[in-house]
This record gives sequence, structure tokens and C-alpha cells, in this order.
Amino acid sequence: MDCLFCKIAVGEIPSNKVYEDDQVYAFHDINPGAPTHFLIIPKQHIATLNDAGTEHQALLGHMQLLASKLCKEMGLAEEGYRTVFNCNKQAGQTVFHIHLHVLGGRALRWPPG
Ligand code: C5P
Repeated sequence: MDCLFCKIAVGEIPSNKVYEDDQVYAFHDINPGAPTHFLIIPKQHIATLNDAGTEHQALLGHMQLLASKLCKEMGLAEEGYRTVFNCNKQAGQTVFHIHLHVLGGRALRWPPG
């Protein structure tokens, strides 16, 4: 499959790695929107959040809890951070392999976009 994030997950395309285990890979966003901006992706290809089902429940929970664990380790937890899944065009999804954005290190406006 010709998927950029599948290739990043297996190291075929280089990235600035944050974390890896058997289920997920995390790396710094190439075009950061905050002082800290990394992406958590599943190693398994899932195009959008719409394509995730109950069989992915534990995986999605793992991604979300990992975001908080990594933010605690990075010293971002006290001040705060944001996690975001963009889904399809109106949300601005550009890479069709789900990725959890994790942004921190500055005050974030609400609502985004
Ligand atoms: O949610 P969306 O699909 O817009 O996010 C894709 C993200 O992937 C962007 O923040 C972009 O900077 C990042 N990206 C990356 N490395 C690449 C290609 C895209 O970090 N090689």
C-alpha cells in the first residue's frame, strides 16, 4: 500500500522518533504547530477515524493514554496540551492514515480552525 505513514511506521521513510511499541509509532511533526507537536500513529493502516471499529477500541485507547504518558514525561502535563484527530476534508485531514496530533508548549486557542 502506498501510504506515507505506513512507510514512516516501519522506518522506510525517516522521521524524528518519539516512541515505538508493537502497536504504535510516535514522531515529531515535520511542520510543528506548537513548540511540541508530535503524532501518534497505529502501525496498522486505518485511513480515517470513520474506518475504526470496536475491534480498534483498545488501540485507540492506547494511543490516547500514551499521549498523556508522553506529555507527562516531557513536562507538558501541568501547563496542558491538546490531542486531536482530524477526520476528512472539513477537518483538514491530509494524510489518510489515522494520527493523533499532540500539541503543547504554548497557549492553544479554542475553538481551533
Ligand atoms: O491531520 P492532518 O492529516 O492534516 O495532519 C498531517 C500531519 O502530518 C501534518 O501536521 C504534517 O505536518 C504531518 N506530516 C509529517 N511528516 C510528513 C508528512 C506530514 O509530520 N512526512
